[in-house]
Amino acid sequence: MRSDQEERDDLVKTMQFLHSRGWCDGTGGNFSVRLAHDPLHLLMAPSGVDKGNVNAEDLIVVDADGAVLEGNGGRASAETELHLCIMCSVAAGAVLHTHSVAATVLSRVHRRDGCIQLEGWEMLKGLNGIQSHETTLVLPVVANNQDMQQLSNAVRPHLNGTTRGILVAGHGLYAWGDNLEQARRHVEIIEFLLSAHLQYQQLCTMTNKTDS
Ligand SMILES: [Zn+2]
Repeated sequence: MRSDQEERDDLVKTMQFLHSRGWCDGTGGNFSVRLAHDPLHLLMAPSGVDKGNVNAEDLIVVDADGAVLEGNGGRASAETELHLCIMCSVAAGAVLHTHSVAATVLSRVHRRDGCIQLEGWEMLKGLNGIQSHETTLVLPVVANNQDMQQLSNAVRPHLNGTTRGILVAGHGLYAWGDNLEQARRHVEIIEFLLSAHLQYQQLCTMTNKTDS
């Protein structure tokens, strides 16, 4: 059983890492870890803070309604509702939400398609359950919405046992895992794949070449 302090320290380290990669610039992104199942308690960064510079004691604990149970006066992010929606729908142990350039740009380009398909990349095997580059990873894309209830309603139908991440158009990526370590790996892999896909598409257009 991990202590509350260990969970806090690990979430801070993960946020610092994601920030160092340029995936949550400004005060963008948000990150949550499940502390308890029943009743559900989530550990999160408070709203409006630089995720590369959050102290463990500044993290907040919220309940299943998004109400803050613990925190040094920190408010819950509006995106808490979507974290709770994902956490409950896929029984995740951690949900990580990034604002990378690749996820932001590609999700706009593919908004009308409703998804992005990634295939042929060795790094797909970094996702749990994928054994070969000859796999197609489908990332659903939903329209952005400042109303978190409407955004959650748009995301919920895509959440099943096979979904590995969701893109919000012009906004960013939500990915998750059974625990924080797995969720972080999934974000790293999906962000790599999105960056590779973006550069591949750009080069294919410039050179009029593909590998097929
Ligand atoms: Zn966001």
